[in-house]
Amino acid sequence: MDIVLIPRHTGAAQNLQFFSPRGLSQLVHLASWLASQGSPSDQYVVVPRGQPDLIPLLAEFAQVLHSAGKLNFILAIEDVSLEAMETVAASGVSELVICADETRAFDVMAQAALGQFLRRGFAKTCSIQLWLPDTRDGRELERSLSFLECGLGPNAIREPRFPLDDSLEMRLLRKPPPRELSDAAPACQFFSNSLTINASAGIQACARHAPDERLGSFLEESPEVLIYRKGYSSRLLQGSPICRSCFYSGRFHWPKPKTEAIEALLQTGMDAGPEFAEEA
Ligand code: SF4
Repeated sequence: MDIVLIPRHTGAAQNLQFFSPRGLSQLVHLASWLASQGSPSDQYVVVPRGQPDLIPLLAEFAQVLHSAGKLNFILAIEDVSLEAMETVAASGVSELVICADETRAFDVMAQAALGQFLRRGFAKTCSIQLWLPDTRDGRELERSLSFLECGLGPNAIREPRFPLDDSLEMRLLRKPPPRELSDAAPACQFFSNSLTINASAGIQACARHAPDERLGSFLEESPEVLIYRKGYSSRLLQGSPICRSCFYSGRFHWPKPKTEAIEALLQTGMDAGPEFAEEA
């Protein structure tokens, strides 16, 4: 089970519960517990949109977790610069994911930085992935080719795995999946294979959903309880309009399968009633 950190917040980073010594020790505990269940977690750190200056702090924080799995940083395309990419690479991050938006407004700027980054050889230590949303307007191929011309390999371009920071504007631009697809895959693979932790240390379904008190805080609850609660909440999510309109690839497929131990915990939560979630 992977860990997604979304330290998006309007306040100063050092005031966030997420960055407290307790937050850090709980994260280490969570990552170690997952590893002890045969499920070493990869971490995805989502750099808050418009705040690339937080990269050094986030990198320092995430390094503590690094030994548990692969460390990925996710940067919105509007925040891509050579400096930001070099800072990520110098921090020992295994993979930098650039997440493009539907507008294409930042493509040229990002391509210039990406080309320089690749020519300088940083990709030997920090690989690059580009998440290109499927806008289904017939221009995806042309857009992919323009990024390939910067030196990116074809395997480095894929659809976004999960939502980062869906503004209302982006939600309106993003087209929902065809009805047959959402009916065929009502459950979310991303939700059941990862824990998304927000700036206040709450567990969220994902960045498209508001924080959900039913899921609890990772500062207050044991990893077992958090996963039970995810199991219970998955039934509620399946029919929610937000999930049914979601077309992120992680919804349909997550690259790392769950272990039997984690699956059993989730299933226990799914089989339990609301009383269980309250008692847990
Ligand atoms: S299906 Fe729901 S939980 Fe899963 S990524 Fe989409 S909005 Fe989030």
